Amino acid sequence: MEIDEAREVRTTCPYCGVGCGVLAKVAADGEVSVRGDPSHPANFGRLCSKGSALAETIDLDGRLLHPEIHGRRAGWDEALDLVASTFSQTIAEHGPDAVAFYVSGQLLTEDYYVANKLMKGFVGSANIDTNSRLCMASSVAGHRRAFGSDTVPGTYEDLELADLIVLVGSNLAWCHPVLYQRIAAAREKRPEMKVVLVDPRRTMTADIADMHLAIAPDGDVALFTGLLAYLGRHNALDRAYITAHTTGFGQALFAASVLDLAGVAAATGLSEDELDRFYSLFAATSKTVTVYSQGVNQSSSGTDKVNAIINCHLATGRIGSPGAGPFSVTGQPNAMGGREVGGMANMLAAHMEIENPEHRDRMQRFWTAPAIAERPGLKAVEMFQAVADGRIKALWIMATNPVDSMPDADAVEAAIKACPFVVVSDVLARTDTVRHAHIRLPAAAWGEKDGTVTNSERRISRQRAFLDLPGEARPDWQVVAEVGKRMGFAEAFSYASPSEVFAEHAALSGFENDGARDFDIGAYAGVDAEGYEELAPFQWPAPSPVTPLWPKGGRTTGHQPIRFFADGNFYTPDRKARFIAIRPAVETRTSLDYPLILNTGRIRDHWHTMTRTGKSPRLSQHIAEPFVEIHPADAQRFGIGDADIARVSSPRGDVLVRALVTARQRQGSLFAPMHWTDQFAAKGRLDALTAPLTDPVSGQPALKHVAARIEKFAAK
Ligand code: SF4
Repeated sequence: MEIDEAREVRTTCPYCGVGCGVLAKVAADGEVSVRGDPSHPANFGRLCSKGSALAETIDLDGRLLHPEIHGRRAGWDEALDLVASTFSQTIAEHGPDAVAFYVSGQLLTEDYYVANKLMKGFVGSANIDTNSRLCMASSVAGHRRAFGSDTVPGTYEDLELADLIVLVGSNLAWCHPVLYQRIAAAREKRPEMKVVLVDPRRTMTADIADMHLAIAPDGDVALFTGLLAYLGRHNALDRAYITAHTTGFGQALFAASVLDLAGVAAATGLSEDELDRFYSLFAATSKTVTVYSQGVNQSSSGTDKVNAIINCHLATGRIGSPGAGPFSVTGQPNAMGGREVGGMANMLAAHMEIENPEHRDRMQRFWTAPAIAERPGLKAVEMFQAVADGRIKALWIMATNPVDSMPDADAVEAAIKACPFVVVSDVLARTDTVRHAHIRLPAAAWGEKDGTVTNSERRISRQRAFLDLPGEARPDWQVVAEVGKRMGFAEAFSYASPSEVFAEHAALSGFENDGARDFDIGAYAGVDAEGYEELAPFQWPAPSPVTPLWPKGGRTTGHQPIRFFADGNFYTPDRKARFIAIRPAVETRTSLDYPLILNTGRIRDHWHTMTRTGKSPRLSQHIAEPFVEIHPADAQRFGIGDADIARVSSPRGDVLVRALVTARQRQGSLFAPMHWTDQFAAKGRLDALTAPLTDPVSGQPALKHVAARIEKFAAK
């Protein structure tokens, strides 16, 4: 890694899954500045508003700087001893499944790796799940069903090479802004490129779309099963590919044919003409990439949606070649890294399967672990339900704020309050979750810690420290390792640095792999501290060493990335991709009392529960207060005027928000952003309204389909 005279440090943005490279600099007076890294292959120098404002969010105001036990300042040794002894005692008395870790896509891969190792290999439970469950679990499940592994075949370059980009449930302009910028720039050069947006709302992303399909909420399965049937009817299938490389096509086509075009139109709320135009465009365009994110994943039919999309790509052979494929983009900066190290309750590390005895054996031998989790653990929503009913008696929450971000948030808060032992590792002293912790552990923040993250296109990049650790804050990997040592596993958790953790993670990925698994960074097993410091961004699999690292003044080079599925081989036992037979079914959750569907999501300039972006006045200028979008016809029906304060209610709770009357919103639906909490608005905690309803395969909550009502708020 070249460091120029201005002493800039190469690191990675901690917000979304695009994973942009950032150059950070600390001036002599301590002032921090950031700019996009021109040599990073994710962004080539671009940053969005959030990334550009990073320097405004790193002050020490509100930081948790010392360990606390029951609200009093404590030393690290006392706090760590208490965490370790309480977890050990709970396991001894109630078994390993009586404890749980709830972690986060904000953790670095090294943090995630150590936490997963402790829980699955040394505690012997799989009760470790992540807030990424709320973000992309349906894509993971869909990949595993179709490909036999959680393999993301797409790359960002594919978005520039495609002739057709279909964006499904994805407001890239606000949620993955640099990808949006890359597509917009590619369209400038290649005006023949077409973009179709499938979204109930006319979001800012529609500005680059040739066609906006304002689909009914959860109409996606019908849309894509209808597309599969259309491809069959119009002889637009790649029959040679289907025969050579897939199984289950006949059943999938049969199931998809249950609806005719009129039926698909009824289920999607789109006209037959709109469907015909989209379907014929898809059928005629070989180089098609279908990009999807939360509008697909956060649904009670999320996994079926993912497979309905993948089915269409398999049926046309549009996978494994440049500019073609299904492409799930992740919301969080290290959701992918968490998947790689098994930071989910239903997976082992290095993309091994928890249900596979050979994989469990391999994992246990590699770690020389006393135990190995033998069955999947509790997924996020189930985990907090288990806390509520007393099955979980000791809970460690790291780098996330579930009291504000989990569905049915009031019930989650009550569960945490009632839990006998709650540890929270966080950078902040008083989030709504930290307030309820018995033990508070100060964590290192972005800019203070070293590690790696993996972005949506499988690119592993370094986050590097450029600030001193404040107070007594420590990196999470180190804190978890210290607890592991105190629980009696000193040898397994004696890491001196994050580079040692990374080297072990890399070695595991190559351990008895023999090309049998997709995730392989085994070439880095021997990386030392210097090599880790110099590590340039690279995509997995990387079975051979990546050199050179940072060539002078230019883009990174390195190994030629392997294009997944280019040879038509997948990770199933017969190496064939699986079609999944899906019957479209649209659930109605509305009722006379709650006649509208509330959709929740992100805005451009805030992130999650605003614990960081809320510090930047510049970011708050974009949208200063929580709001609800409502269609003019619904506004008239419910007596709501533009800019009125409205009460939005579900059977679980209510919020007070500013009404924004706009035809960009679909009639019958509302949209409200998820960011504001009661800390930032009078009554703004949106997840007090959402339900703990999940996809049956992935366990991902349906955060975009909440039965709700709206009324004008009249202050008494
Ligand atoms: Fe950060 Fe995402 Fe913006 Fe890039 S696009 S600067 S990763 S928030």
